[in-house]
Amino acid sequence: MSDPIQLVVFGAAGRMGQAIFELASQSPDLEVSAGVVRPGSGVLSSSAENLLPGAYVAHVPADAKADALVDFSGPGGFDAALDLARARGWPLVSGSTGLSQRQLSSMEDAATHIPVLWAANFSLGVAALAHLVSQAARLLPDWDCEIIEAHHRNKRDAPSGTALMLGRRIRAARGGTGADSAIDRSGSRRDGEIGYAAIRAGDIVGEHEVRLAAPGERIELIHRATDRNLFARGALTAARWLAGKPPGFHGIADVLGLDH
Ligand code: NAD
Repeated sequence: MSDPIQLVVFGAAGRMGQAIFELASQSPDLEVSAGVVRPGSGVLSSSAENLLPGAYVAHVPADAKADALVDFSGPGGFDAALDLARARGWPLVSGSTGLSQRQLSSMEDAATHIPVLWAANFSLGVAALAHLVSQAARLLPDWDCEIIEAHHRNKRDAPSGTALMLGRRIRAARGGTGADSAIDRSGSRRDGEIGYAAIRAGDIVGEHEVRLAAPGERIELIHRATDRNLFARGALTAARWLAGKPPGFHGIADVLGLDH
């Protein structure tokens, strides 16, 4: 049997970081070599080594090895994750959302040096939703389009990265015309606008609805995630796919072999 794929998990103390850590520890072909947490994080002093494989660290040792760095640290940790991957020449898989334009540009720049895969959503169902939404938007270019998303009460960014990705797909399917509306818009609807609405409540894992409407009829395309592990599974599939690839920028559609 070949050696397991070594992963460094960035943002390892977070909800997604923990899910990645646990799933990877159950996969014989994967090994977490280190889980990077913030300096001073409570998990550094806890006896977590009895619960989870690998080790929590605030600073990755210079001789650490990784076939991929998996980042779910959000916009606050993303720069440090990207710097680390770039400095060590490690492939980067990131699911951090709420990234600024500067952060997205530096990720694309890094992809000329290392393989990078970024996805606002690692679910297969959402990849299929994006595909269906593009087709509907192309068939119905004049219909009003609104995107409604719901997430747990602790999510920081809004609209979600997935909602924005769906908006970009709709815009591209319609030839790039029109403007997005802010989430807190007021006043009447403009032609060609894509509107966003966000719900933050309880422990909702993630829901996205695209509503296309014309006088007298409407289409609603909805995806509901009920288990956070589905994103972790998708990210680990992406890490397996990206390990050993040459530099370049990829999305989840490349892993799944779907059209963009
Ligand atoms: P979270 O707040 O539970 O976890 C983020 C963790 O990163 C925290 O523990 C935080 O302390 C840590 N962190 C921040 N900066 C760091 C640094 N410099 N070094 C080390 N650790 C650092 O959030 P979450 O729910 O796990 O989500 C994380 C990110 O993933 C968010 O941007 C979220 O929107 C996104 N997300 C993406 C997908 C997807 O499929 N792409 C799915 C779920 C969540």
